[in-house]
Amino acid sequence: MTLRYQVIATDALAEVGPERKILDDIADVTLLQTNDEVDVAQRGSEADVLLVYHTIKLTERSIGALPKCRGIIRCGVGYDNIDCADAGRRGIVVCNVPDYGTEEVADHALMMMIAIARRFLIVDKAIRDGRWDPQIAFGTPRLRGRTLGVIGCGRIGSALVLRAKVLGMRVVIYDPYKPDGVEKSLGVERCHRLEDLLKQAEFVSVHCPLTPETHHILNDKTLALLPRGAYVVNTARGPCVDANGLLEALAAGHVAYAALDVFEAEPLNDERLRQHPRIALTSHTGYYSVEGYQEMRSKGAQEARRILLGEKVRNPVNLAILTNSRCRV
Ligand code: NAD
Repeated sequence: MTLRYQVIATDALAEVGPERKILDDIADVTLLQTNDEVDVAQRGSEADVLLVYHTIKLTERSIGALPKCRGIIRCGVGYDNIDCADAGRRGIVVCNVPDYGTEEVADHALMMMIAIARRFLIVDKAIRDGRWDPQIAFGTPRLRGRTLGVIGCGRIGSALVLRAKVLGMRVVIYDPYKPDGVEKSLGVERCHRLEDLLKQAEFVSVHCPLTPETHHILNDKTLALLPRGAYVVNTARGPCVDANGLLEALAAGHVAYAALDVFEAEPLNDERLRQHPRIALTSHTGYYSVEGYQEMRSKGAQEARRILLGEKVRNPVNLAILTNSRCRV
């Protein structure tokens, strides 16, 4: 009997599609369809590779119950839902799929920014409620010439920069980890201190990963630095923006409107955000397009295949803490 590897997808997937095409000759692909890592601990022990999406959190509790596992593929960009250090100490590489949704999230952030600036949702709601009152849109600013501050200028942040420039916006970036010159290649201005960016950002959009440093990077104090009547967009990770601080800034009129795709707890359970008339909401859909979703799944499966075949992985994210790796890195 030929040995077949076991690839286990933990959450999110309703069926096996692109994964089977890519892995079928060497592996069985099983879906756990769970958001609870207890199920992974109980039913995932045979996994050679795990495919993980964003609706589950994996800690040492489940990672410690994967004796054969060589790699955890986070089929997505942000890997803050996986204890990468614990995986690394056990010799398990964690890889992400960094590029499948760059355009989608940048489009989404732009869409949210334009929607709140142009009062799209509140005008739409008024019409549906039977009111035809164009004055609801009064106060809408012209975007050309306005300053957009971009926090985190990696793939998505720089894709947003390009889009905002087409609108004629003045763009300023803050990203302490980009080498000097990125601002020149993008043709934007750069601040080396967050407060310098915030003081001038009439619009601000968050595109950094969630790390201890970026947790609540926008809070009551930093939001207070924005020019009065600013617009805030978050498509990065919920905890990058402190919800209490944002609500305070909205109440004070310091922030005029906000648009959020991501939340401290998902599904969103904060009625103050859900019911707020000046917050536009989407349900962590920024990443999605038909094409991007296929790309995400295919690229995740291809990384799993490389691990199983002993090939070098493309997108490891825990190399600094990976000891006695169980696969080629
Ligand atoms: P990226 O790694 O290419 O870019 C992130 C940038 O943030 C990097 O340039 C990094 O130097 C910078 N950064 C790190 N710490 C920072 C700090 N303290 N202050 C300012 N900048 C900092 O990642 P990306 O592909 O652009 O994705 C960005 C984030 O978007 C991801 O981490 C993920 O959490 C989020 N995301 C959300 C969705 C969604 O559906 N809403 C989809 C994909 C990604």
